[in-house]
Amino acid sequence: MAENRESFENLNQKLLAFVDNSPTSFHAVEQMKIMLEQAGCMRLREGESWKLKEGAGYYVTRNDSSLIAFRIPKRDFIGFQIMASHSDSPALKIKANAEIQIEKKYVKLNVEKYGGMLCSPWLDRPLSVAGRIVVRTSEGVATKLVNVDRDLLIIPSLAIHLNRKVNEGYEYNAQRDLLPLLGGPEAKDGFLKQIAREAQVEEEDILDTDLFLYNRMKGTVLGLNGEFIAAPRMDDLQCVFGSLMGFLKAGPKDSVAVHCVLDNEEVGSSTKQGADSTFLRDVLRRIHFAMGRSEEAYLMALASSFMVSADNAHSIHPNQPDKADPTNRPFMNEGIVIKYSANQKYTTDAVSGALFKAICDKAEVPYQVFFNRSDMLGGSTLGNISNSQVALNTVDIGLPQLAMHSCYETAGSRDTAYLVRAAQVMYSSSVQGAGDGMYRLNW
Ligand code: ZN
Repeated sequence: MAENRESFENLNQKLLAFVDNSPTSFHAVEQMKIMLEQAGCMRLREGESWKLKEGAGYYVTRNDSSLIAFRIPKRDFIGFQIMASHSDSPALKIKANAEIQIEKKYVKLNVEKYGGMLCSPWLDRPLSVAGRIVVRTSEGVATKLVNVDRDLLIIPSLAIHLNRKVNEGYEYNAQRDLLPLLGGPEAKDGFLKQIAREAQVEEEDILDTDLFLYNRMKGTVLGLNGEFIAAPRMDDLQCVFGSLMGFLKAGPKDSVAVHCVLDNEEVGSSTKQGADSTFLRDVLRRIHFAMGRSEEAYLMALASSFMVSADNAHSIHPNQPDKADPTNRPFMNEGIVIKYSANQKYTTDAVSGALFKAICDKAEVPYQVFFNRSDMLGGSTLGNISNSQVALNTVDIGLPQLAMHSCYETAGSRDTAYLVRAAQVMYSSSVQGAGDGMYRLNW
């Protein structure tokens, strides 16, 4: 037991470091590249021809914010075992010409919302800026990652004395209430200069930016017995990390293991690097053709493939337990959540749900079930969007958490390890379906 606890703690510290080093989707992809290369995976580029070998691992990125890694088994493969998660989280994005002066005494920044965020947690806490800039070079333009690694900005609340009714409910106006304070009068014209200094480029060479505010508060393990782990961007970096760790531990035997992390889930996935793009389909096809296989063999492989769409789920809330379904009650630390929706907002059906349960049993990992209350609409996720590009037997799952889309979210300190184990088994296995109602699981 003590040893078990040790391994949970170890994994949680690695997760917190991963989250801390991933203030934006660009940084999350950069972290994954480092970890994949340390594990011997080779980089491929979409603009080059691919030569692939049996038994080897590879990865490819799109827009530097989505990444697909895969490992080919040592013998001819049956299909693909895919886990998909998302790299982005709701945040405030900095607009161009961002500086706004207030009575020549303050400089604040103009921002807009990215994704469906809870607004109030962003107020009254140290924030900073990270993302990418694009600079002019002698040959064209080049992207550069930036992270201003210090407390830089704050969005101050209005004092209660100036709005006595605020605790009766407040509607945040993004253009008025969410603009962060950068500095006093001397901060004027300083924002881009700071970014240029940080990126070690000339300010006039910065042609464009994708910069976001992020919460400076570090993640932590908390609770009387260390039950919980709280950090920014747990949705969905907890699943991204669990999927990657499972991928790195897996040994694919009959199917190609595919770790897929896509950007822009929080804004509808319909970008060139999102779940509604051709990225996953393009990569699967290219793996196929690089291994010298036919179009028909590709379609046969899809029929014997399995996809796990891994995006965090709602745990029962301690103060509002009635907000959840009466008979399906997911709690943190009680295992991976399988999500169902009759209207197929989640892709899970009886077959994909059963296959995933069998995988969890094999991994000796607990699982639980989520439905929305029948009188409430839930969120959606990447599974069904991705299915319109690559139609696969897919299950929607996630780890249970609280405060989804806050800039500081709480999850269970044991659940990441459960996902790693289930992912490892899933990536190492294969699901053979001949279309006769029988699905063979080979471990
Ligand atoms: Zn999510």
